Amino acid sequence: MSKRDYYEVLGVSKSASKDEIKKAYRKLSKQYHPDLNKEAGADEKFKEIAEAYEVLSDDSKRAQYDQFGHDGPSQGGFGGFGGSGFGGFEDIFSSFFGGGSRRSDPNAPRKGDDLQYRMNISFEDAVFGKQTEIEIPKEETCDTCHGSGAKPGTSPKTCSTCNGSGEVNQAVDTPFGRMVNRRTCSTCRGTGKIITDKCSSCHGAGTVQKRKKIKVTIPAGVDDGQQLRVSGQGEPGINGGPAGDLYIVFNVKNHPYFERDGDDIYYELKLTFPQAALGDEIEVPTIHGKVKLKIPAGTQSGAQFRIKDKGVKNVHGYGTGHQYVIVKVMTPTKLTEKQKQLLRDFAEISGDIPEEQGSSLFDKIKKTFKGE
Ligand SMILES: [Zn+2]
Ligand SMILES: [Zn+2]
Repeated sequence: MSKRDYYEVLGVSKSASKDEIKKAYRKLSKQYHPDLNKEAGADEKFKEIAEAYEVLSDDSKRAQYDQFGHDGPSQGGFGGFGGSGFGGFEDIFSSFFGGGSRRSDPNAPRKGDDLQYRMNISFEDAVFGKQTEIEIPKEETCDTCHGSGAKPGTSPKTCSTCNGSGEVNQAVDTPFGRMVNRRTCSTCRGTGKIITDKCSSCHGAGTVQKRKKIKVTIPAGVDDGQQLRVSGQGEPGINGGPAGDLYIVFNVKNHPYFERDGDDIYYELKLTFPQAALGDEIEVPTIHGKVKLKIPAGTQSGAQFRIKDKGVKNVHGYGTGHQYVIVKVMTPTKLTEKQKQLLRDFAEISGDIPEEQGSSLFDKIKKTFKGE
């Protein structure tokens, strides 16, 4: 579509004064304002008038237009804007009016919103996986009207205020001159459609809130904070677009005695002093069942044993983790008199404590016995 001459649009001569241009603009913009003029094409006409005034009311832009016409050297930028740090017309709209620059067609199919759901699962369910079911509140396409929002047998009409575009233009005076503010059509709230006979089930929304049960397979090996995408279980699509996705974020509960680090599991094994000193064979719990573990004589507190492949099977299939057993030697408390005596006897015949630690009560007792 070729552009009409700006002077022609405003109906003024090429030699028109600034005042004449202003008067012509005021008259025409009132006549074609989309909020006042419901005729088809008024909207386009209004845009054309605003654009013409934008250029002809500015001395430098007008001079440039007079010289170069529509295809001036700064095409699309109307001179001034392009060089003043703004990116052009669209940018100046959004910087003054807080977003709301060009929107896409409100009737175009759009993907529904994604949803997020936090799911608490046990330590075991994270390790082994599980088939389960969750119930989430969710917007669903209305069954009665199939999402149109209109009473069955009727259909939504194109909004006459915005001619279905969902937007209207409004001239605004700013310190920078008159601007055209593009805003969401208030008649149809940006949908471009008017529903005269509303669907009684959804009251025109096209969607209804339902609690929906969704089958979820917790993947074996999933870890705390990881998420699973369930395709197509988000909010329904708009204008026949695809539904959004559901993201399930797993919160794995702590285990009373296992601790997980990636695919490995840690277990603290408490040993008595005799067990650690003399060695033992004990049954250690793992997430896969009990496993026999040989404790060599002289095991120190903090010693670590690995039980191979008794950790978590990797969620992506990269092998299996191990279980690490960390020894903690328990110092006995609440000793009987007999136990105390045995320990004193034990101390007496034991080796000395390291020299750098100096003397201890036991050393003194020993020295007394030996008569040193
Ligand atoms: Zn409905
Ligand atoms: Zn509208």
